[in-house]
Amino acid sequence: MNKIDRRSFIKLASMLGVTAALPSLLTACDAEPETAVAPPVNSSAASSHTVLIIGAGAAGMSTAYLLTQQGIDCQILEAAPTYGGRIKRTDTFADFPIPLGAEWLHVEEGELQKIVNDDSVGVATEIVAYGPEAMAGYYEEGELYTEELTDSDLKFVDSTWFDFYDSYIVPSIADKMRFNTQITRVAYDETGVELTDQNGETYEATQLIVAVPLKILQDGDITFAPPLPSNKQEAIAEANIWGGIKVFLEFSEQFYPTALSLPENMTNTGQQLYYDAAYGQDTDKHILGLFAVGSKAEPYQALDPATAVRDYILAELDEVFNGRATKTYVKHIVQNWNEEPFIRAAYYADSADWLLPPVFSEPVDDKLFFAGTAFTNGNDWGGVHNAAQSARDAVELVLGYPVMSE
Ligand SMILES: Cc1cc2nc3c(=O)[nH]c(=O)nc-3n(C[C@H](O)[C@H](O)[C@H](O)COP(=O)(O)OP(=O)(O)OC[C@H]3O[C@@H](n4cnc5c(N)ncnc54)[C@H](O)[C@@H]3O)c2cc1C
Repeated sequence: MNKIDRRSFIKLASMLGVTAALPSLLTACDAEPETAVAPPVNSSAASSHTVLIIGAGAAGMSTAYLLTQQGIDCQILEAAPTYGGRIKRTDTFADFPIPLGAEWLHVEEGELQKIVNDDSVGVATEIVAYGPEAMAGYYEEGELYTEELTDSDLKFVDSTWFDFYDSYIVPSIADKMRFNTQITRVAYDETGVELTDQNGETYEATQLIVAVPLKILQDGDITFAPPLPSNKQEAIAEANIWGGIKVFLEFSEQFYPTALSLPENMTNTGQQLYYDAAYGQDTDKHILGLFAVGSKAEPYQALDPATAVRDYILAELDEVFNGRATKTYVKHIVQNWNEEPFIRAAYYADSADWLLPPVFSEPVDDKLFFAGTAFTNGNDWGGVHNAAQSARDAVELVLGYPVMSE
């Protein structure tokens, strides 16, 4: 194989997070196409369930949204002062919104309509695919090689995952979210659940959906009484969860290709990629993104975000582009996910054991249900679409009937 062949699509696709999605794409090929229409409300179910949800990330919000569609009384308890979790974005760094966590849509565009689950609501979110002008650069042995970027991931245009949720999901659940409410204890028995927050305040319901990051359960932030089943505790303790960081840099000119891979940038212990964050946006700004998870995030995470991380990145880029990074640098921002107080990591590693997610997501005593990007059937994990799918699965288990119409 020559160098260009070796630097195959798979390598770059993995960088953009497609590897974990592959098994489910295969599964999806076998599945019947699904048409999303507003499902009917089951009034007997509406009267028999009250549901609490811990966490207002994509999974928790999708859960509350679907329950509300079904007329079920529910409330989200969120530790942070706002919603979104790992779909956080900023609209102050550039003249288009910058996704500080989830950025790409790793599945087909129709997934957005599926999340809305109501055909009377037309999703107008604009999405762009990488075109033939998109170039992938590979820096190896002191030389930069470029070739066409063939990647199936999609980017939001002047929008983000956060904006999509903000437009289509949040309006119907805004009054069901309670912020600055960190749940520290969950007690459950055959009659229902009782939650306790950091101030000792309690909340009761017939069922609970836990939609916090796996890392939060691994760190033992929430005490369960009785304790979770031992197989679930063991699976959570064993989980290989990657830390993660994103950095965005503005330059006065674009000297870099659409995506840039440095040597050894994708291993079983971590991944790193530079990419044109302004790709597909209506902007004159030149914004380069850095995505790094697992062992590949650690060198950046160890540095002072204000100056040292910038200098490290500029030196890395200057080597590839003959000093042009330092000459054209304007400003940067850093999002270190390990330092988010109620998230503390990026996600369950792409290379981790696929047998564990079904154990993470298994309900307990028909009272506790689990949703979130790692709480899946093990075919796929790590993306917002997984968080949304896990919400559908959890809601259907709570209610005992499908909420997605044929
Ligand atoms: C750097 C990075 C890049 C990514 N890139 C992509 C991408 O390109 N495409 C993609 O699809 N996905 C991507 N992802 C993954 C995506 O962001 C996640 O899969 C998804 O947002 C997770 O949603 P969630 O609801 O499971 O968890 P979260 O969004 O983490 O939500 C959990 C919520 O629980 C709250 N919480 C925690 N503890 C408590 C408690 N004790 N009490 C109350 N509330 C609590 C947290 O504050 C948080 O709001 C990326 C993630 C990272 C970090």
